[in-house]
Amino acid sequence: MTPSKRKVILIALCLFTAYAIVLFIFFNKSFDHDSEKAETSTSVPSQEEDTATVDEGPYDETLTITEGDTLASILNRIGIPSNQAHEAITALSTVFNPKDLKIDQEVYIIYDLHPNGENYDLKFLRLRADFDYDVELVRTGGGLFQATKYKKELKHDYVNVEGDIKVSLYADALRAGASPKMLYAMIKAFSYDVDFQRDIQPGSQFSLFYDTYKDEESGLERPGELLYAKLLLDDKPYELYRFQAPGDVPGYYTASGEAVRKELLKTPIDGARINSGFGNRKHPILGYTKMHKGVDFAAPKGTPIMAAGDGIVERCGPYSSYGNYICIRHKGNMKTAYAHLSRYAKGVTNGIKVRQGQVIGYVGATGRTTGPHLHFELIHNGQHINPQKITQLPATKLTGKALVAFKAFMAKIEKIKKDREEAQRPPEGTFTGV
Ligand SMILES: [Zn+2]
Repeated sequence: MTPSKRKVILIALCLFTAYAIVLFIFFNKSFDHDSEKAETSTSVPSQEEDTATVDEGPYDETLTITEGDTLASILNRIGIPSNQAHEAITALSTVFNPKDLKIDQEVYIIYDLHPNGENYDLKFLRLRADFDYDVELVRTGGGLFQATKYKKELKHDYVNVEGDIKVSLYADALRAGASPKMLYAMIKAFSYDVDFQRDIQPGSQFSLFYDTYKDEESGLERPGELLYAKLLLDDKPYELYRFQAPGDVPGYYTASGEAVRKELLKTPIDGARINSGFGNRKHPILGYTKMHKGVDFAAPKGTPIMAAGDGIVERCGPYSSYGNYICIRHKGNMKTAYAHLSRYAKGVTNGIKVRQGQVIGYVGATGRTTGPHLHFELIHNGQHINPQKITQLPATKLTGKALVAFKAFMAKIEKIKKDREEAQRPPEGTFTGV
């Protein structure tokens, strides 16, 4: 072999080796690639399954109404087409006025992608119509909506709030957690016997007992009725129970069964001042001294006049110097009369029944008078008496079967109160201190 021939063989060998290496690398690469492909092809379907559970409906959401929102606007916002939102709201309107939606109110909805893949279909909607009711809207077959109103299940319970009066009954009872509505009922019930401006001094105590209706889902509570209230003023207890005597309206009674509501109002007009009292006086028009058989209340023309007590209108019409006049007959041979009226209230006429506080007419200046005022008379057994001494008249008192029912009601309230106190007290022997 010549050296030149050996050189050629060596070069060929090198080229072959290089070629073999290139081939090896190529096949190696293509093998790797195939294996990668195999891996991805097995993982792709599982990825598609994952995304399917995330992206496909139905979806549910709780939307909160903010300022300027309407039901239509919040439905449009999540992609419900306007015409469908309109149909839904029309159906809902049969059980709920959409205008009653309040700011911060929550609306729970279920919706799904429309087959066209572009917008959404409303499937279900639920909202709280008011404290006692929920409304639900369901999409039925054919894309129609059906609305239903459901009474919520409320838990009936009792609440006892008590404490010391340091600032005022109102401030301290509110701070102790009393419902403002119940507190107002308490103040109103005691207003016949307690002067809230004067009688409540620091060191006084209060107690309210009322029932409530609780929605356990939202935790919201609605007070029912004030069943019992107590004030301790200068060590003197004032207790009232709410009771409905057979055939009567509910009212507040003392523990002895006496109604706090007096049979007759001392002042049958709101915000008026007495400008001429009962008794002898020099008559402003006639000029000589004459017995004034009533009380005059100065008030602007048109001020409403209330019936002083339950009774029957005995006379309603002009009556000489009295001008436009009403006389009401009450029980116990009592009558009240109202003179110089500008007009009578609608429906008030001879023989009708009126209730205490009902508006019967309006202040005027008809008959013999120098200006608009109410002349008010109280007549007992045909004798004129001073209406300002009406507190001397007995209040309605429960008797007979009504009193028996009242005593049973009081005992029931006491038992509920006692049971609650016992349930809240830690069992005997429990270590509570340090
Ligand atoms: Zn008079």
